[in-house]
Amino acid sequence: MAAKKTQWLNRPVDRRTFLKGSATGMASLLAADTLSLLRPVTANAQTRPIWPSPGYKHRYTLCEMCVWRCGVDGRVKNGKIVKLEGNPFHPHANGKLCPRGQAGVAAVYDPDRLKYPLLRDGDRGSGKWRRISWDEALDYAASRMLEIKYRYGPETMVFSTTHNLLQPEFETLLKAFGSPNYGTQRSLCFNSMVAAHLFTYGFQEPERKYEGVQYMILAGRNLMEAISNSETQALMAAVAGGAKLVVVDPRFTKTAAKAAEWCPIRPGTDLAFFLAILQVMVTEKRYNKAFVEKYTTGFDEVAAAVQPYTPEWAASICEIDAKVIRRLARELTGAMPNAFVHPNWRTSNFVNSFQAERTIAIINALLGNGLPGSMCSAPVTTVKLGTIKRPSFPRVKALRLDGVPWKYPLVPLKLGVFQEMRDNIVKGDPYKARGWFIYRQNPVDSIANRKKTLEAFSKLDFIMTIDISMNDTAWFSDLVLPEATYLERYDPLLTIGREVFIRQPLIQPLFESRSGLWIFKELGKRLGLGNYFPYENEEDYLRQQLKPLPISLEELKARGVFRVPEEKEAKAYTFNTPSGKIELSSSILKRSGFAPVPRWEEPPRPAQGSFYLLTGKVAYHTQFATQNNKLLREHFPANSLWISPEAAKARGIKDGDKVLVESKIGRVYVKAKVTKGIRPDCVYMNQGFGHLSQGWRAGYGKGASDSDLHESVTDPISGGQALTQTFVNVRKFIDEVSS
Ligand code: SF4
Repeated sequence: MAAKKTQWLNRPVDRRTFLKGSATGMASLLAADTLSLLRPVTANAQTRPIWPSPGYKHRYTLCEMCVWRCGVDGRVKNGKIVKLEGNPFHPHANGKLCPRGQAGVAAVYDPDRLKYPLLRDGDRGSGKWRRISWDEALDYAASRMLEIKYRYGPETMVFSTTHNLLQPEFETLLKAFGSPNYGTQRSLCFNSMVAAHLFTYGFQEPERKYEGVQYMILAGRNLMEAISNSETQALMAAVAGGAKLVVVDPRFTKTAAKAAEWCPIRPGTDLAFFLAILQVMVTEKRYNKAFVEKYTTGFDEVAAAVQPYTPEWAASICEIDAKVIRRLARELTGAMPNAFVHPNWRTSNFVNSFQAERTIAIINALLGNGLPGSMCSAPVTTVKLGTIKRPSFPRVKALRLDGVPWKYPLVPLKLGVFQEMRDNIVKGDPYKARGWFIYRQNPVDSIANRKKTLEAFSKLDFIMTIDISMNDTAWFSDLVLPEATYLERYDPLLTIGREVFIRQPLIQPLFESRSGLWIFKELGKRLGLGNYFPYENEEDYLRQQLKPLPISLEELKARGVFRVPEEKEAKAYTFNTPSGKIELSSSILKRSGFAPVPRWEEPPRPAQGSFYLLTGKVAYHTQFATQNNKLLREHFPANSLWISPEAAKARGIKDGDKVLVESKIGRVYVKAKVTKGIRPDCVYMNQGFGHLSQGWRAGYGKGASDSDLHESVTDPISGGQALTQTFVNVRKFIDEVSS
């Protein structure tokens, strides 16, 4: 036992480290039955607890208020969750949670939680429901899905979900059912970043290293507000340690406020900015020559292609001084190898965002990045868990409704083009869809053009949603099933690098809510697919996953994390591209008839008097899990429209005035926030507000939804949505009745 204890984590934690790392938990003390959780892994650790015990129970689990999955130290008293803190052992938390993570308790005790299965008992969206039992609900769901399958074909049932730990099991259900139609948030978020890195490096997203970094350019990545906990912490530490941060963004974000330099670029022109940086690197021979020769292909093609893209050329497009662009290129390369351009995350901005991402990927390679250990590198290999043994899946012959690959030949199957799938449900092309099964996702809010998503719903015979509360998608569904919150259930294990983490219940599920693992198994049985879910219960599922590892479920539950020892011999790294090298000139793009090296693509721009509509996040909210959270709503109740003083004055708008914002597809009313922190040709809204569901009492009707304004435009290479290609007009709202 002692030998195993030292094996599980080689990160000693003393009292000082823990006190420093924990955000607010100094007063909380430990219960006798869970003392082992916070014992340092040192020789004397077995005998003395860090704190005495006043009756709190501690459990390690994982946050689900966003997709970053921070480790949580949850505190329970008298059967109630009283406090959530960051797990000091977890690499995504480092002992701290962001405001959203801290507020997770309010998700469990939300008075608007779904308590039992509900069947629609009136028109869709009328809010009329009938309470039914789980048996009735699952029998009904299975009978409707089977009716669709046998009458119209399995492909006419659409499935969709968002990034979550149970996603592989949802995909099991989809594949066993035999449908090719799968929608995720990816094309609404990061398709262009992922596709660009796949074609260049052969991996989806590089890991960023902030330790030792001297120079960083972030273009549109607002890490101080769109918090990715550990990465935000690392960025703050790097800046505090003297690294130079340059932020390129049309808006003065909180990240820009922490930067040494802010470049208020014209939207849609990041590609021109980075092409010019690349041009300086190539013409002034400011790159890592040895690395480029050994690990890349296509340098000469790139060097020839970027010749016309001088800083002077870019300046007139980006509206950033040529001297500044040239100086930034020199500073960036002067800090080699401790420099990188952030690859970004949500890159669904313009059709040319894919080429901008390719250019960033190439710049990083020329800086010598890409290999494990570099500043912007290949992801570390993760631990191999035990697989759940199941029969092979049926072959699917039907075309996908999202156009992959018949319309979008290069979009990876796993990424898909969600907005196109919605559009084709409306059109009934290439065939008519009949049903939509939605799990932990809110497409009514997240896909551009909400009206069109509701139109797609109107074409369907059956819509089923599983969630913890009545979001806008559930509100327009026929059957709604209540899932237990992330603090009440098990999910499949999480691996990060060489560590394995567990999500486990802090308390038993409230009301009649159930875990997704239980729901899929029970639904699978009724669909005649029970053998695809060969686990007795949630714990049995986890035991099967843990089989190859030298740790029991009980030990993992107590410790929250298990670290697999390093492999003794490090293997040489090979890039997973057709050439085995970093492809500066992409053979995949060339073979498919696209430009193999980036070139300038002029994006559309708004007419005189109209604005680019920018959208993004605030620290308190995501588009999803936070939206009905009372604690977070107290801090940030509703979004507003950022507008520059010049643009506001020209329209007679004062700070706090109600304004009408109109695009080609819709209009919203929202309060104006007049600020110098935005370019005069742009306006900005936080995403995820303006809800339709009256089942969300904290969120209903607060602020405005960008999905009522955003048009649906798609990049043909990556399938990414181009949200910022929506232009709007703004005017002061005058209430005609009272005026
Ligand atoms: Fe939770 Fe915040 Fe971490 Fe996201 S970043 S997982 S919301 S603590």
